[in-house]
Amino acid sequence: MELELGENPAPMTLRERYAVLSNELAEIADAAGRGPTDVSVLAVTKQQSSEAILAAIELGLHDIGENYLQEAREKFATLQPAGARLRKHFLGHVQTNKARAIVEQFDVVQSVDRIETGRALAEAVRETGKPIPVLIQLNISPVARFGAHPDEAERLAEELRAEGLTVDGVMAIGPITTDQREVIHAFERAAQAFARVGGSTLSLGMSADWRQAVRCGSTMIRIGSALFGARARARKIPI
Ligand SMILES: *Cc1c(COP(=O)(O)O)cnc(C)c1O
Repeated sequence: MELELGENPAPMTLRERYAVLSNELAEIADAAGRGPTDVSVLAVTKQQSSEAILAAIELGLHDIGENYLQEAREKFATLQPAGARLRKHFLGHVQTNKARAIVEQFDVVQSVDRIETGRALAEAVRETGKPIPVLIQLNISPVARFGAHPDEAERLAEELRAEGLTVDGVMAIGPITTDQREVIHAFERAAQAFARVGGSTLSLGMSADWRQAVRCGSTMIRIGSALFGARARARKIPI
């Protein structure tokens, strides 16, 4: 397929992709009246090798995200001691019987969408003595399988806090559509729910839609393919 006129060829290395992303992020954040440090980049390393994670750490990407416990556990085991400075975010669906292992392996759980999950995590936090902040995953897309309804987020946050968990904000996956207004409308709903929930993290925006997310107030964009290149196996995103 030919490149369209005026389109730049895709940058090749992780370093180059990160540089391009950082520059554009700084521009878009600035245009939206946000400071250069208001939006952090979480590197989504699912299906990437331990070497790729180490390369990301070397570039200063200290927040990484994984979706599958088993895959993450194998990779994290090879990262010591370089992994010591990492903040590892769990992005996948939380099975309650895996809550303890998730708490042991990760530093943040971004995907809490029901009280049962929260109870299991709270119990694991008590057992392990390892406090981990959680985000409420919101459902803002018509086809999403997971996530709490934005109108229920505030109550869920209260219930989770009553269990002793630190709720630090919300996470959402945008609708898969080329309709920009639909994306922005969904992100605005997420931002409004974030305002009601409180905390410091609005985890919003992926490779295809992070620009709109930043304009809608995202404090953390979750980037996989725009950093590491297209994933080999197009595994379905567990939304
Ligand atoms: C895979 C994934 C991402 C990153 O997706 P890209 O489109 O490759 O940037 C972000 N968030 C979640 C929850 C994911 O599963």
